[in-house]
Amino acid sequence: MDAAVTTRTKVTAIAGDGIGPEVMRATQRILAAAGATIEWEDAEAGAEVFRKGIPTGAPQETLDSIGRTGIALKGPLETPVGFGEKSANVTLRKFFEMYGNIRPVRELPGIRTPFSGRGIDMVIVRENVEDLYAGIEHMQTPGVAQCLKLISEAGCERILRLTYALAIAEGRTKVACATKANIMKMTEGLLKRVFERISPEYPGITPSHLIVDNCAHQLVIAPEQFDVLVMTNMNGDILSDLAAGLVGGLGVAPSANIGDKAAMFEAVHGSAPQIAGKGLANPTALLLSAVMMLRHIGDFAAAEKVEQAVLVTLEEGRNLTGDIAPKGQGVGTDAYVDQVIANLGRRSATVPAREYRRLDLPAWPEATHHLSPATRELAGVDVFIESGLESAALGDSLAALTDGSAFTLQSLGNRGAQVWPPSGGQTYLVDHFRGRFLLKSPPKDDAMAEIADLLQRIGRQHVWMHVEKLQRFDGKDAFAKAQGEG
Ligand code: NAD
Repeated sequence: MDAAVTTRTKVTAIAGDGIGPEVMRATQRILAAAGATIEWEDAEAGAEVFRKGIPTGAPQETLDSIGRTGIALKGPLETPVGFGEKSANVTLRKFFEMYGNIRPVRELPGIRTPFSGRGIDMVIVRENVEDLYAGIEHMQTPGVAQCLKLISEAGCERILRLTYALAIAEGRTKVACATKANIMKMTEGLLKRVFERISPEYPGITPSHLIVDNCAHQLVIAPEQFDVLVMTNMNGDILSDLAAGLVGGLGVAPSANIGDKAAMFEAVHGSAPQIAGKGLANPTALLLSAVMMLRHIGDFAAAEKVEQAVLVTLEEGRNLTGDIAPKGQGVGTDAYVDQVIANLGRRSATVPAREYRRLDLPAWPEATHHLSPATRELAGVDVFIESGLESAALGDSLAALTDGSAFTLQSLGNRGAQVWPPSGGQTYLVDHFRGRFLLKSPPKDDAMAEIADLLQRIGRQHVWMHVEKLQRFDGKDAFAKAQGEG
């Protein structure tokens, strides 16, 4: 065991819903038998909490407990229909700013899949709090919805530094960053740019970038090429589930949610209500999540002991739960747990051992992250307009409205396609237009009065619902070109 671990580490245990309590009990039994240095602090979250009328699904005592211990092991949580809009999982991840989701994807002995024998052994790191998951959505017109994709430079740097720290902690040598930077140059492109900026600081690790759709393809045709993969939130959400499928599915997939002050470890699977309370659940995913947790707190000896016992149990194929046993040979949770405990102290004959070190994360400043450009100019505004007019009529009307204002109408777009001046394209129009208005001459101030004048002019004849400034930071456009712009 790490010299730092001399006393018991307090860990918040959230058993959760459905099979949660069964897999939590099973995991705690095995950890105790392995001599893990943990003192559990039980806490509630999930369906029962929602039913008590707590709309977050996680009561204050639970938040306080995680705030105190800084470490949680969590079973699956349900959001019962009719109670609360947000899941308790998301509440916990956001409350503690657990920005990094870590999902190891490793071929396990005895778990047959179409990819068995390829030696898949990678870790997927998913940014966990930004991107489309910020939950900022609007119906901009009765028929057109918008979801904001927010990506911050600080968020990118933080997830990338975590990725490199993880690669170092696990002795891995390659980090691939998968983005959609070819299409979303500002948002996805930011992760790519920060990746290219910081990667030279990690000379022992080979960086590479690939487009995320190619990454999906590569994950299926040659998954063994990957060592560590990092992605923005939604791409990581989708591809980490795909990757879990390569090695035996969600039932055996562990995960960690890492923040600066708290970390939460959980199985990827849900509450499996069909088998809840029947003693049939497979605790392997939560158990492997607990192994990640033990490494996180520095109890490497217990982590190794439990992991090896699971690997030996899977390798020998005796007393496995029904979901992974050969047909008709499955046993219950307790018998599987007994088998893993009996195997404590043995080592896998087939899975190579890996050296782990503690995750060494740089301290992240507490202050609001603010980048101040040397120069900032306003080039114009995009005004989003709801209209049932044809594009020629709307474009001509808006162009006429700018007579005598500080702006000219440069173009009109419909879901990104230029429709005025006409481009000859075959755009199907919906009632959501983006008018790109450019300042006739660069203003000295921030042009508040000019923007207000433009909006009043538009508002007298049309409905506008959203305005976006077109800014230049340090002389560079801080907005994507409209279609057709050179
Ligand atoms: P699920 O993962 O619960 O079940 C999918 C299938 O896998 C089912 O056939 C189930 O029986 C089986 N399965 C899952 N875990 C198993 C295990 N440990 N042992 C044996 N079999 C297992 O997914 P679902 O049915 O989509 O979701 C059920 C509930 O769980 C929903 O309320 C959902 O919102 C919630 N959920 C929670 C989390 C979480 O808390 N992190 C994640 C996913 C789903």
